[in-house]
Amino acid sequence: MSETFENKVLPLIPLRGLSVFPHMVLHFDVGREKSIKALEQAMLTDQLIFLTTQKDMDVDLPTTDDYYAIGVLAKVKQMLKLPGDAIRVLVEGMARAEIVSISQENPYIEAVVSVYKADSVHIKETEAYMRSILNAFETYVSVSSKISPDVLTSLSSITDPSRFGDVVASHILLKSAQKQQILEAIEVDQRLKLIYQILLDEIEIMEVEKDINEKVRGQLNRSQREYYLREQLKTIKRELGEENDFDEEVDEFRSKLSKLKVTKSIREKIAKEIDRYSKMSPTSAESGVIRSYLNWMFELPWKKSTKDELDIVKSRKILDEDHYGLKDVKERVLEYLAIRQMTKSLKGPIICLVGPPGVGKTSIAKSIARALGRKFTRMSLGGVRDEAEIRGHRRTYIGAIPGRIISAIKEVGSDNPVFLFDEIDKLASDFRGDPASALLEVLDPAQNNSFMDHYLEVPFDLSKVMFITTANTVNTIPRPLLDRMELIEVSGYTEFEKQKIAERYLLPKQLKEHGLNDKMLTLSRAVLPTIINDYTREAGVRSLERHIGKLCRKAVTRIIEKGSKVVRINSNNLKNYLGNPRHRDDAIGDEDKIGIVTGLAWTSVGGDTLQIEVTPMPGTGKLELTGQMGDVMKESAKAGISYIRSRVDRLGIDREFYKNLDIHIHIPEGAVPKDGPSAGITMATAVASALMKNPVDHTVAMTGEITLQGRVLAIGGLKEKVLAAAREGIKTIVLPKSNEIDIEKIPKEVRNKLTFCPVSHMDEVLALALKNKIVEVKREN
Ligand code: ADP
Repeated sequence: MSETFENKVLPLIPLRGLSVFPHMVLHFDVGREKSIKALEQAMLTDQLIFLTTQKDMDVDLPTTDDYYAIGVLAKVKQMLKLPGDAIRVLVEGMARAEIVSISQENPYIEAVVSVYKADSVHIKETEAYMRSILNAFETYVSVSSKISPDVLTSLSSITDPSRFGDVVASHILLKSAQKQQILEAIEVDQRLKLIYQILLDEIEIMEVEKDINEKVRGQLNRSQREYYLREQLKTIKRELGEENDFDEEVDEFRSKLSKLKVTKSIREKIAKEIDRYSKMSPTSAESGVIRSYLNWMFELPWKKSTKDELDIVKSRKILDEDHYGLKDVKERVLEYLAIRQMTKSLKGPIICLVGPPGVGKTSIAKSIARALGRKFTRMSLGGVRDEAEIRGHRRTYIGAIPGRIISAIKEVGSDNPVFLFDEIDKLASDFRGDPASALLEVLDPAQNNSFMDHYLEVPFDLSKVMFITTANTVNTIPRPLLDRMELIEVSGYTEFEKQKIAERYLLPKQLKEHGLNDKMLTLSRAVLPTIINDYTREAGVRSLERHIGKLCRKAVTRIIEKGSKVVRINSNNLKNYLGNPRHRDDAIGDEDKIGIVTGLAWTSVGGDTLQIEVTPMPGTGKLELTGQMGDVMKESAKAGISYIRSRVDRLGIDREFYKNLDIHIHIPEGAVPKDGPSAGITMATAVASALMKNPVDHTVAMTGEITLQGRVLAIGGLKEKVLAAAREGIKTIVLPKSNEIDIEKIPKEVRNKLTFCPVSHMDEVLALALKNKIVEVKREN
């Protein structure tokens, strides 16, 4: 129960947006003239003042209705003049008071107020409220971050319920109307109840607020997560090359450049291009050109090398593992590697593996790479005419890219691969530039450390690359290139060797490639020799490998389609798998014929037999040559005829044959042009046989150059020729005496099957080859 304490006449200050509770100490600034006057008046008397809150804080000159009737009797504790006219005061609320009347309006408001005495009844209910409030306030403090927990301690020591209520009220953040409500609750119990209610409401609101905050924060987190995911996605896209965000791309180029190991001048060049790029419209054609240039630059393996394994013992093992036979070749390769190891340099001649197709030249080069632990790449030079294929096109050229060398280096990803130039003998040159001279620069250790590709515009170091070349023949290799190379000859294989290669390498390899094993596909003993002889006639084993591959393919189909467990192939059913044999054994015929002689030729695809046919017919002494013949061959045909003319009597030929007969020489089979003088004795024999009408032994094959006087001169490629002859079923080989030493190089299993007849003169050739005895014609003069 509260009661009025006393009536007092006090100067009044209307407060704007501020409420003061009893027991509350606070300061505020006073600016309005009437308020300052009121303050001054208070200071003149007992420093007591009546403070009440304005209902609307925007009203400048409030009248009675503009402020609440109930306010606080306060004591001014301090005054401080602020710059200007304002005064800062520190006041302490004393007690609730209510306006009874306004006694004056000017120069300051003066009111008659009745002051309420705080009642101090302490009943159980009050105590209960106080505890509840304290608890609630504790929660309030914990959810609100704005109130110091120290307040709690001071509160718990307050026993006066009225004061307790007011102190709590002064700490709760309330709206002005609520504050007024509390102020107007004169009765303590009623006030405590109100405060408790307000506190609970406030707590609830604050909790909801917190909840909302958390949700918002959760959303923020989610959007942050999204941001990170997007960043990651961008990185992934960038990895996939799908990023087209221009600025980012430029940044990326710059960061790539900072990591690139290149010389200063190349770095500057790239930096310049990036700068140019960054200033361009991303969609322009020009920017596309620069972008792909930059990508090329970043993808090249600048100074990125693999580590060499220099172990000759291991190299030998690898070469043996990958190849059957080839003893000399392997020795030469190992010597070469040993020297490289000793001198720790790749300078010096470049290996050129020379031999017919399919003898394993490429595969040896691959083995060398494997033995050295280097990567392997190859480029075929066959038919390369345009220098740009080697050196690339300038960027100004639409769709330009680097040449094939730089492309291969990029592809292989290291700057020291084993680089195979296939078919260096097939390099061409014409108006589009001279690829040979570009190649020379690539292969020259003095120049290749700064190889210039037109597209790159900066030098690339090729000096760590190990170059190997292959050729079928050395005849057409440009001289300057030939001078740089160390030739290693890889010759064709005998039937025996082919069989071994097929058994040990080709068949297991093909089985594996087709997912088969040797239990699923079995070949009878005769199968491989039949394939070698009847289906493939070649120096190497390429076609043999293809045929074995074909068998495997068919076997797989059969296993899958028909559910067979095993496919057995023998010489009887071989035809079902491979079709009819392409080469019949009677390629050389089984008859001795007039004017037909088997010669032996050496072509770029290995040795070959050729059937030379001669037909004389009535005429005027013309010599006609058809078939794939070169000039040298034509010359040697003429030499042969001159020899025959010098022997007409001994051979029993019409003296005037060169006047009244036309002689037609033809070489029927073979698409590969043949040239060289080694068919000399063959043509001469054919002409002689035709003129003499004396048949030639079809099991004899011959090779040798002829002079006008009939001497037989040495030829090249005997081994390949003999291997070819053996393949065709020849029994006797007529060869120049000066080539006798080469017979040793021919594998024994072939040598043993043939008879070798070294000759030094054409007379001996005819004696050996013609079936009928030569009868000398005795003439009058
Ligand atoms: P080239 O390059 O001389 O034309 P390749 O290297 O392409 O010949 O050889 C053709 C196929 O024959 C390859 O599969 C190769 O492995 C195989 N080959 C050739 N010679 C041998 C050999 N001596 N031992 C094992 N396999 C060989």
